Amino acid sequence: FASASIGVALGFPGYARAEDVLRDADAAMYRAKDLGRARHAVFHPSMHTEAREQLQLESDLRRAIDRGELRLTYQPIVSLESGQITGCEALVVWDHPTRGLIPPGDFIPTAEETGLVVPLGRWALLEACKSCVVWNETLRGQVPISVSVNLSAIQIGTPQVLEDVRAALLLSGLPAWLLKLEVTESVVLQAGHGALLLNQLKALGVHLLLDDFGTGYSSLSYLHNFRFDTLKIDRSFVSQMEQGGRHVELVKTIVSLARALSLDVVAEGIENPAQLQLLQQLSVEAAQGYWFSRPLPAPAFRELLLSRKPFVLPLGLARTRA
Ligand code: C2E
Ligand code: MG
Ligand code: MG
Repeated sequence: FASASIGVALGFPGYARAEDVLRDADAAMYRAKDLGRARHAVFHPSMHTEAREQLQLESDLRRAIDRGELRLTYQPIVSLESGQITGCEALVVWDHPTRGLIPPGDFIPTAEETGLVVPLGRWALLEACKSCVVWNETLRGQVPISVSVNLSAIQIGTPQVLEDVRAALLLSGLPAWLLKLEVTESVVLQAGHGALLLNQLKALGVHLLLDDFGTGYSSLSYLHNFRFDTLKIDRSFVSQMEQGGRHVELVKTIVSLARALSLDVVAEGIENPAQLQLLQQLSVEAAQGYWFSRPLPAPAFRELLLSRKPFVLPLGLARTRA
């Protein structure tokens, strides 16, 4: 099936040249494509401004990595059996010289479109691994702390990522099993190359985690074919749990599915003790969310680790798995 995306520019006296009309129709066509293809969009002057801003963001991002404007923040992942921090997720933020802190949702899509996510990801992997080595040295004798790093579909589409992960482990000295790579279902669904690469990554000894579980086009056969270690329940499910009924049943089903496939379960986006209590009742192993802590800069996360204080959980500690 062939479909068409149509950009419309309405003729008005302000246009002096045919090329200008075509340029604007072109801008509108790209908007139609962005909106999901097989539709039309009518040109509006704001599209120019947005396109200019997008271009600016792109060129700024190109320089951001070299200028050291990117920072990793770390959000604790807490064991629901011990209340102790057992790991963290590395989340990138951009300390933009004029726009201030920009969250990843505002620039990762641009980084993906431009391919900049590859050097960005390389930097994030090494930085996260190095920090993790320091924490484990500081906490010698305590529970080992792991670090999770997000990989986008574009990264899994390039064989370079295998080298980047290997180099990050080698240069930092982090044992492979303390590095967890988070990928989403969309990555898994890209057959062929991505599939092979995931298996090669797995062969390095790192953990594979399926992020945002339940929000994409989950295919049970994919879950079965890839040797994931952990399944991360998306925040959208956690946030609806308190409504009870089928919302809790859904999470319960995801947990059973994970158990059947011998996968660990982490829940993300915990914002209150009621959610936590429900997750404890379902014997979910670990959780992360604002209720425990927002993502923290490396020094603050280290402080939190050094305090060695377990979080107080609604149902108490040392619950054994059902
Ligand atoms: P994600 O991997 O699913 O990360 C979890 C997101 O949920 C983070 O948003 C985190 O700050 C947020 N979050 C955690 N707990 C709570 C909570 O209790 N309530 C709410 N409302 N939100 C919570 P963030 O930092 O904005 O990151 C968004 C996405 O950007 C990430 O989603 C990930 O897909 C992507 N990302 C972040 N860092 C990187 C990176 O280094 N590389 C790549 N490729 N993607 C990244
Ligand atoms: Mg993630
Ligand atoms: Mg997620």
